[in-house]
Amino acid sequence: MRETRSTCPYCGVGCGVVIESKGEQITGVRGDPDHPANFGRLCSKGSTLHLTASAPITQHARLLFPMRRAHRDAAPQPLSWNEAMTLATDRFEQAIRTHGPDAVGFYLSGQLLTEDYYVFNKLAKALIGTNNVDTNSRLCMSSAVAGYKATLGADAPPACYDDLAHARTLFITGANTAWAHPILFRRIEDAKRADPRLRIIVADPRRTDTAAAADLHLPLLPGSDVALYHGLLHLMLAEGWLDRDYIEAHTQGFEALRVRVAEFTPRETSRLTGLTEPALLQAAAWFAGLDAPGEGRSPTLSLYCQGLNQSASGTAKNAALINLHLATGQIGRAGAGPFSLTGQPNAMGGREVGGLSNLLPAHRDLANPAHRAEMAAFWGVPRIPEQPGKSAVEMFKAAAEGQIKALWIACTNPAQSMPDQALVREALRRCDFVVVQEAFSTTATAAFADLLLPATTWGEKEGTVTNSERRISRVRRAVAAPGQARHDWHIATELAQRLEGRLRPGEMPLFDYSTPEQVWNEHRETTRGRDLDITGLSYALLDSAGPQQWPLPAGQASGRARLYEDGVFPTEDGRARFFDTPFEPVAEPRDVRHPFSLNTGRLRDQWHGMSRTGNLGRLFGQAPEPTVDLHPHELQRLGLQPGDLVHVTSRRGSIVLPAAADEGLGPMQAYIAMHWGEEFVSGRSARGEPLAGVNALTTPRYCPRSKQPELKHCAVKLLKA
Ligand code: SF4
Repeated sequence: MRETRSTCPYCGVGCGVVIESKGEQITGVRGDPDHPANFGRLCSKGSTLHLTASAPITQHARLLFPMRRAHRDAAPQPLSWNEAMTLATDRFEQAIRTHGPDAVGFYLSGQLLTEDYYVFNKLAKALIGTNNVDTNSRLCMSSAVAGYKATLGADAPPACYDDLAHARTLFITGANTAWAHPILFRRIEDAKRADPRLRIIVADPRRTDTAAAADLHLPLLPGSDVALYHGLLHLMLAEGWLDRDYIEAHTQGFEALRVRVAEFTPRETSRLTGLTEPALLQAAAWFAGLDAPGEGRSPTLSLYCQGLNQSASGTAKNAALINLHLATGQIGRAGAGPFSLTGQPNAMGGREVGGLSNLLPAHRDLANPAHRAEMAAFWGVPRIPEQPGKSAVEMFKAAAEGQIKALWIACTNPAQSMPDQALVREALRRCDFVVVQEAFSTTATAAFADLLLPATTWGEKEGTVTNSERRISRVRRAVAAPGQARHDWHIATELAQRLEGRLRPGEMPLFDYSTPEQVWNEHRETTRGRDLDITGLSYALLDSAGPQQWPLPAGQASGRARLYEDGVFPTEDGRARFFDTPFEPVAEPRDVRHPFSLNTGRLRDQWHGMSRTGNLGRLFGQAPEPTVDLHPHELQRLGLQPGDLVHVTSRRGSIVLPAAADEGLGPMQAYIAMHWGEEFVSGRSARGEPLAGVNALTTPRYCPRSKQPELKHCAVKLLKA
């Protein structure tokens, strides 16, 4: 029996695990008592990792060999790795030489490790000369990135998990922590038990399990978050609850925002959000933290996730919330600050290596000529292209329009998870050459691949991930790769080495890696002098001292728990910026034809497209089948009984689901969990093509700054089937 310390591959809490294995079989998993994210605890998903990892290979549908389809309707046939990589290199070179570098694209994943991400990003931006690198993190966190940069000057979550134990008020907004980040929610429960004075506010249109635990639930109308935050600021201003000294010393731009929020009177905010004026006043008082006379200002910590991010005004929502923290000085001290929670295990690591179409490594911006020059010099190439790459939705649109000819998809399932499935499937059909690099052969996207490349997964690979609190943890191999599966960084490196020989023959090799540690060492060097400087962090330190938070520059023994304690922000003048933004309603408002607001989100016990959790019967205990959830009054009004089949139809498609009652939903609201794919939910596009899952319905409209699509809202109609 062996024991291997690693990290849970599911959510951004980033819990430490101890993998038990015998021979090449994973036999058990338990929480790592020494990991500072979870101190030994695991949720229902993490504690069953060994059962999903050790499911029989056939049931598990692992991809074990490279496979090729002669044409799209043909069954895939095995081929050798050499043949597969020759084919991939030929087709990518052909697309680049014939149509230019922007005719290829890479669509990656927040499930990839930092080292995997780094190689892919360098391959595209330094070698091929395209910025067409984007990831499913665009669907998850890009609004949080844009919100932090617009206000605090850098994409750096300032708080940490330990702040939960110091906060007096928790403002949980756009997040169902009880289900999406269960171990963090256990820490919230611990904090409440330890100090019953802790007040929990939850702003969410649904009465979720998280909202049920709140002292104050604010069931705001879908998409009205910016109006709520502006309304709270208006109240704090009127009541004299702002921290004028902090605003004066550490920020700029307050005057424009003060004028903006003047119109968000309690009455107007109540009209826009559907919340009562007393509830707004209570929330403002608790957030400001001045309601205990003689005790000074008590700390307020905000926790937020997809309810803010997955929105056509995602950046505005993030920044308007951060405005509240800056205006009340609720930042840079224990228990206070805006704290975005990452959905995926390594959305943070992807951001750190610049693995989005508008970023470069170490929080550099593609749009900044000095940053492009720095990375070109670091990588030893003449230039990094200036042309912005395509973000997730843009990339699939470009493929559907014939502009992207070759697409490389790694560790993600866009044929289920992207909004507007009709568009995505058209893109995958139209694209000349689609490579899918995956651990599982049964994903919806695999059906569109010309070439399938088997990748290793959790328990089999080595590298690092970064969780929501900037903590970098090691992911370690416990068992050998099954079949001919290879590590993601290795596959990317081999493609890069082969393309290098053709695109820049005779020049200094750029991809001289034979271990993930070599990739890590190069990545950390890109951070020297940057806000996330980790030049002091080695695999050896992670092995000896355990997971560490960034920054951790050379010469320091450990990372920093909390940022901006000195009130100095990474902007030109050291001041944070207030973000003056109007309130915009949802991208697709309800109307007479589509009178319901559809919200999507997670279940507690399933993960993403279920390629792993869907193999385990016990994880269906919480929700055995997909449903469209409605308030009992709505069921009654529509003449429905729970279990009746319902057509749910948006402007883009229609699916059929059983109805279920949920008293936590408001009037004219519907909810469908995101996980169920074509095995469970079938439907049709508006043009009659077969589609599956809730993303047959969702809109591709996105935030103009973050390019994150509005997966959390679209307008639908409901008809009994
Ligand atoms: Fe894994 Fe997240 Fe559960 Fe922790 S909370 S065990 S990281 S799924």
